Amino acid sequence: MPELPEVETVKRTLNVLVAGKTIKEVEVLLPRIIQKPSDIRMFEFLLQGQTIQTIERRGKFLRFVLSDYVLVSHLRMEGRYGLYPSEEALELHTHVLFHFTDGTDLRYKDVRQFGTMHLFPKGEELVQPPLHKLGLEPLDDEFTLEAFRQQIAKRTTKIKPLLLNQAYIVGIGNIYVDESLFLAGIHPEREASSLTSKELQVLYEAIIQTLRDSVEVGGSSVKSYVNGQGEIGMFQHQLRIYGRKAEACYACGSEIQKTVVGGRGTHICLTCQPLKRTRKKNQ
Ligand SMILES: [Zn+2]
Repeated sequence: MPELPEVETVKRTLNVLVAGKTIKEVEVLLPRIIQKPSDIRMFEFLLQGQTIQTIERRGKFLRFVLSDYVLVSHLRMEGRYGLYPSEEALELHTHVLFHFTDGTDLRYKDVRQFGTMHLFPKGEELVQPPLHKLGLEPLDDEFTLEAFRQQIAKRTTKIKPLLLNQAYIVGIGNIYVDESLFLAGIHPEREASSLTSKELQVLYEAIIQTLRDSVEVGGSSVKSYVNGQGEIGMFQHQLRIYGRKAEACYACGSEIQKTVVGGRGTHICLTCQPLKRTRKKNQ
């Protein structure tokens, strides 16, 4: 599933490709992708004549800001967008077509068919599902060390599932949680409230660094993710722990373990991320 850096990359690419274009007609070939409105013909009707002003990101969601509406799109496992000349033949698994007035199409493809689209009158998308209860944006100014502390410090759940919970912090999925916890030297099963003030700060910085580094190179292409122009991200070559089961840790040489934490496959170096800490009394 694309996480924050991949969706951010798609957003930036889509802004270059389709911002300013006006929708002539929309064709929905797979109704289940459209979650709102429930009437697919209404979805197609409302989008006619709308101009794409900009594309924004909230967590792992794309927000297409139109003249009067906002289209909220989640790529889930394999969803992707591409720009094509309107006369070009459809590729397999193309489910939604946005025909523009300039003779091009934005096409949504999704092999797994798990992606979703919600259409709202502008502004309503912020007070309704799926965006209404999302947590802090980790690359925004609002994500201060103090805000992070308030979300995390007193919780009695394990740190990994807590970081995956989009109600606290958005956009971090399995890859970037494993990378951030490794970088911070924190075992994924540590109880959040057991983290010291210093550890919280190191983790806070690790999350920001991991996400920023990935955005800079266009995200990771661990499964089949590609951005809107069919290019792949390069961060998978910089992954320190994710997907490296049984390989040697770059930091200490120990063998990287793969286990399950909170129902998710999890990569750990037990030397760099010890579960039991011997804490000094004055710490
Ligand atoms: Zn190590």
